Amino acid sequence: MCEKLVVELLKEFVSIDTTSTERKNFDKMVEVISQRAREFGLVVKKIVDKKKIPHLIISLPNAPKNAKKIIFLTHYDVVPPGEGWSFDPFTPIVKEGKVYGRGASDDKSGIVAGLIAFKEVLDNGLVPKVYPELIVAGGEETGESVDFFKEIMGDIAVVLDVGPEGLSIGASGVARIRVRVKGRQAHSAYPFKGKNAIYEASKLINFLRKYAEELEKTRVSQYAAPEHYEKLPARLSVTMIKGGVAPNIIPGECELIIDRRTIPEEDAEEAAREIQRVILDFAHKEGVDVELDARGLINGWVTKDEKIVMKFKKILEDILGKEVRLVVELGGTDGVHLIDRMPVGQFGALRSENNIHGIDEFVYIKDVILVKDFVKRVILTEF
Ligand SMILES: [Zn+2]
Repeated sequence: MCEKLVVELLKEFVSIDTTSTERKNFDKMVEVISQRAREFGLVVKKIVDKKKIPHLIISLPNAPKNAKKIIFLTHYDVVPPGEGWSFDPFTPIVKEGKVYGRGASDDKSGIVAGLIAFKEVLDNGLVPKVYPELIVAGGEETGESVDFFKEIMGDIAVVLDVGPEGLSIGASGVARIRVRVKGRQAHSAYPFKGKNAIYEASKLINFLRKYAEELEKTRVSQYAAPEHYEKLPARLSVTMIKGGVAPNIIPGECELIIDRRTIPEEDAEEAAREIQRVILDFAHKEGVDVELDARGLINGWVTKDEKIVMKFKKILEDILGKEVRLVVELGGTDGVHLIDRMPVGQFGALRSENNIHGIDEFVYIKDVILVKDFVKRVILTEF
């Protein structure tokens, strides 16, 4: 049965530690996945990129070569497990309909769903209406796979590295602002001789906190968010603070990092400049001495191809038997590397409560089966 195979493959893949930062067992992982794919009768192509990272492109032997090429995007590397797990992160545990372990959800669930979907199409003698390719990338979590993603060609992409809370059709963008708050250094026994940069920075932090609350309420996308918010809002957080050189010195400098998440309707560069203006205004009014560096890093994006979005939506609604919401991711996804050349839909088993990148990561087996069914239906749909 399919559930048995889901568990078997997940356990096999999760038990291989593929920690991204160390490129651990990348070759072994790719070998194990290739072996499975071949055993299922699938066609496997291995690509080793310029950084020497191996990736796999898995396809169906009976798919029509002249049909629309649909790319399913997954990755086999995982973030480091970190401390505090209740069990060994690479000895998967199956319990109450879940599989626990680092990568069980992010993103080995996607690989398993893709492989089994391809296998079932083949085993049941079903006729693919598209030319599907399952991409299994390495180095995703460190950003090293970006060049590889940028070279992928196809007609439509499906990212399997998100949650199943809705049909995801886009993602937020990022702008970063570094603020150097300047004071005057002095001996801390004589505080009156200095100007404490940490105190100056705290004025700005308090201001930004209120500004962020206001921004969330007023800068709202037309698209829904997968969780917490009704509609996707712009978000801002002070995420880092650095200041002080010694316990007995009044700090002359304090640095803040501000992380700003943009909605698809915004331009990241413009959002960066906007914060810059807001901070400079505040600093001018309050007499705080600042130096700024503001950058738009990634633009938010959304798939505008209505016809394709509706096809994906209908497939999901047929499987689930209920209405499916269109959502845009709060974070970023690899869809950003493909959206300039093809429409991108996103659906995966990375549910919000799965603790991805956290401790005791897990995936619901039924979510993996759901994603498998989605992949299968996409293969059997004419686009
Ligand atoms: Zn991932």
